[in-house]
Amino acid sequence: MKSFHELRTMLRSLDHKSYPAYKSLAGSYQFGSFILFIDHVQGDPFASPSSLHVEILHKDAGFPKEYYEKTCSRIALQDFLTRQFASQFEDFNFKAKGSGKSGLLSITRCRQEVLERSACEITDTKIISRFHVGFPAFGRTINAGELEKILFDFLPRCVESSFFFRRLDKKKVEQAVFLAEDQEAVRTILKQEKLVAFVANGSILPRKSGVSDLPLKYSVPFSSPSSMERTLTLPHRGNLTGMAIPQGITLIVGGGYHGKSTLLEALQTGVYNHIAGDGREFVITDNTAVKLRAEDGRSIRNVDISLFINDLPNKKDTSSFSTPDASGSTSQAAGVIENIEAGSRLFLIDEDTSATNFMVRDDFMQQVISREKEPITPFLERARDLYEKAGISTILVAGSSGAFFYIADHILQMDCYHPVDITQQVKTLCQEHTAPRIYAPGFIIPDFSRALTAANRNSGKNTSQGNRGRGGRDSGRHEHMKIKTFGRDSFSLDKETIDLRYVEQLADSEQTTALAHLLRFALEQVLDGKKTVQDTVTILNDTLEKKGWEAFCNSYIPCGLAKPRIQEIYACLNRFRG
Ligand code: ADP
Ligand code: MG
Repeated sequence: MKSFHELRTMLRSLDHKSYPAYKSLAGSYQFGSFILFIDHVQGDPFASPSSLHVEILHKDAGFPKEYYEKTCSRIALQDFLTRQFASQFEDFNFKAKGSGKSGLLSITRCRQEVLERSACEITDTKIISRFHVGFPAFGRTINAGELEKILFDFLPRCVESSFFFRRLDKKKVEQAVFLAEDQEAVRTILKQEKLVAFVANGSILPRKSGVSDLPLKYSVPFSSPSSMERTLTLPHRGNLTGMAIPQGITLIVGGGYHGKSTLLEALQTGVYNHIAGDGREFVITDNTAVKLRAEDGRSIRNVDISLFINDLPNKKDTSSFSTPDASGSTSQAAGVIENIEAGSRLFLIDEDTSATNFMVRDDFMQQVISREKEPITPFLERARDLYEKAGISTILVAGSSGAFFYIADHILQMDCYHPVDITQQVKTLCQEHTAPRIYAPGFIIPDFSRALTAANRNSGKNTSQGNRGRGGRDSGRHEHMKIKTFGRDSFSLDKETIDLRYVEQLADSEQTTALAHLLRFALEQVLDGKKTVQDTVTILNDTLEKKGWEAFCNSYIPCGLAKPRIQEIYACLNRFRG
């Protein structure tokens, strides 16, 4: 490791040289209270900015140990520090003069969710924070003076006011950590008490707009119907009252515009923790919950959808069904099966985004179109078995068919944004009507032995393990598949695009980028034509858990990766066209 004096001398000697000479700065430098690492230097001023990171030892940073010992607290602290660092950065962005991305300083922009990100990692001994800096230039000539300002003046100030406990608002740090511990406590209670979701009274569910995740001002706060109200005791906050949804089938009904979808959407993001002030801090859903929806046009590979679809007119085998262009109902059928495979314990379904013929078929239609002529067994006829035989609960928004009343354990009516428990009234009414006949044949959970193959991929060939690892920068690099992320919605690996638009619970484009890295790793190092999808996801998740991002990156870990859930790793592999 060199000293920061040496860095300054090196930098000054580069002034006015041609841009690639910046590359010689890669390395690590002792800056007193932290170490600066220049991990990757951009090739020209217009390329993606350079990757840097700083490391601060705990003994210098001074955070109480209990703030980062438990996983949930550590993630919250990491998130807090990332936001703090980002807010410091904002003041300085693009103040450097020059061409291209000169002076651009960037770190993750966190949204409402608290995610585990490569932008900040806290280990047993230190805090690591990763970010990008556009190394300044005049045209294509090095502008050392501007970089000197960034690295020697601005950066140390940002680091000082972000990663040292004594410099921070202690109350705020504590608040973030304690909130996460309380949220974790709710998750634990859900498991212990056989609940699938909790929505605290007073929660603000609607969002500002379709493109803003911020809470809607002047909205009606959530209030639980008294029959479903529970008071939980949390370690920091004490008692918290709200609606507890038990396992089983819960139906959300109500007139249009009364807030049904808003409640379901809040529940689907409740798999993540939210920051204080979001309004959904205590909307907590079973971690494995999956939003199921129709997804016309997606690819399906070797999925046994025979639980729902049989006897297709083209005689296609539905016990190992593949298509490059699924219909609404087949995509939703595949979604159910894939997410049983992915270990989901709760399905969230909104009529608004479902294929009607997949969900329900009324008696009259059953009489007109005989069973032999109808390939689809609707979800209505499978939902009870899914719960009773596979242990998967459902929360379903339905406004158009009364058939679901018969299979529901709990029925909530959204009335002007207030949920009302109407289970008893409806069950009484049910006795006056004839229940829809169930025609479904026996319920058998498919076996999940299908293997994933990476067809025509020369997997592993150009990625011998020996080549990996740090050290060899550009020279040591070999041909990895090229990753490109298109916001949250999709990414490409070399020329193939993986479309994740309808994977609604992906919260952040950094998760999409992480999925691209995971899939690339799977293709290059895991898939062998024998491993099943479950094996593959287990390996990916374990590798991330044990070895961290390093296992998935070439020579350095960039800022800009966020950990996806297991369910989204499945969703990604399942949408890969191969
Ligand atoms: P539904 O699915 O029942 O038709 P939505 O959930 O789509 O209704 O909600 C309709 C509108 O009402 C949306 O614009 C939403 O932002 C707004 N909304 C939902 N919940 C609330 C609330 N608690 N307070 C105020 N507005 C709300
Ligand atoms: Mg709706």
